[in-house]
Amino acid sequence: MPDLKSMTPEELEVYFKELGQPKFRAMQVFRWLHQGVESFDGMTNLPKALREKLKAECTLTVPKVERKQVSNLDGTIKYLWRLGDGNCVETVLMRYRHGNTVCVSSQVGCNMGCVFCASTLGGKVRDLTPAEILDQVIFTKKDSGEAISNIVMMGIGEPLDNFDHVLRFLTLVNHPEGINIGMRHISLSTCGLVNKIDKLAQLGLQLTLSVSLHAPDDETRSRLMPVNRSVGVDLLMETCRRYFETTGRRISYEYAMVDGVNDGDEQADQLSQLLKGQPGHVNLIPLNEVAESPLKPSRRVRQFQQRLESHGVTATVRRKLGGDIDASCGQLRRKRIMEGETHTPEEGST
Ligand code: SAH
Repeated sequence: MPDLKSMTPEELEVYFKELGQPKFRAMQVFRWLHQGVESFDGMTNLPKALREKLKAECTLTVPKVERKQVSNLDGTIKYLWRLGDGNCVETVLMRYRHGNTVCVSSQVGCNMGCVFCASTLGGKVRDLTPAEILDQVIFTKKDSGEAISNIVMMGIGEPLDNFDHVLRFLTLVNHPEGINIGMRHISLSTCGLVNKIDKLAQLGLQLTLSVSLHAPDDETRSRLMPVNRSVGVDLLMETCRRYFETTGRRISYEYAMVDGVNDGDEQADQLSQLLKGQPGHVNLIPLNEVAESPLKPSRRVRQFQQRLESHGVTATVRRKLGGDIDASCGQLRRKRIMEGETHTPEEGST
């Protein structure tokens, strides 16, 4: 069944042409879909017969709020959405001075196996469709009534492991007749799939690429991130350098700080060495503790930051939002799975 929300306006034009419909139907339907219409009957400016035909022939994804948690500390909202097939994914709305940011998931679960991450504990169940990634923005906007100015692909999943759907999502969310978020307001975070980073570079998009580095040496990085066992820090950094040269866009390096594992001064020195001669920025993330993991948050975040800065590397510490609502991605879905499927869906803040 065609999934119209995953289609570009040009593809919709072809689809409606085949149905013998005028060209303008494509944009009418595109607008409805991107506004979060919940049924084909809701497309009130379409002829009744066409609505019936679409109802019979097409799918329309409408995620349901399985849980919604609102932080009392900073107004962060975390949604757990139930998808058409019963799987759940998380989306977080964060409020910053420069505007609201939505953090979206790209897969149900994840295969990358990073030891500190809750999203990967049960492996990957499936990729999200372009419409399902887009829905997280559309329905977060609709449910919260908030304007959205930035998107980060830092939720559940490895976006570059779902490359084609993520690319299509970016095209759709960027469209002026839809949500209309500029590429410069979008960040995509990857664990470092080098072939896909090269492929992305060729597209020359103006988005910000964030690379989850988390350690400056192979031994530590392989311990934290199994993906490093096949790629290695040197090849990753070479690929990042190439990405910058091709796109002119600086990379942001994420570094989750783990007590006694990657937070020593010598590691800050190594990291500075690694970034030498390459414009980049380090984002230090205080580790969010995951119940299933023995890793603890570092107590040396500021010292580490100062050490980097003493070498001329710019480093910021990520502000923790939604600390009272398990807002780091993967935790809410995980909790839901652990509680079992018999739980009654609930809504509202906690
Ligand atoms: N698959 C992508 C997106 C993952 S989530 C990636 O690997 O980049 C975005 C960031 O959160 C990544 O840098 C990820 O490593 C980090 N992260 C995951 N679990 C974390 C935790 N428990 N504490 C701190 N950062 C975490």
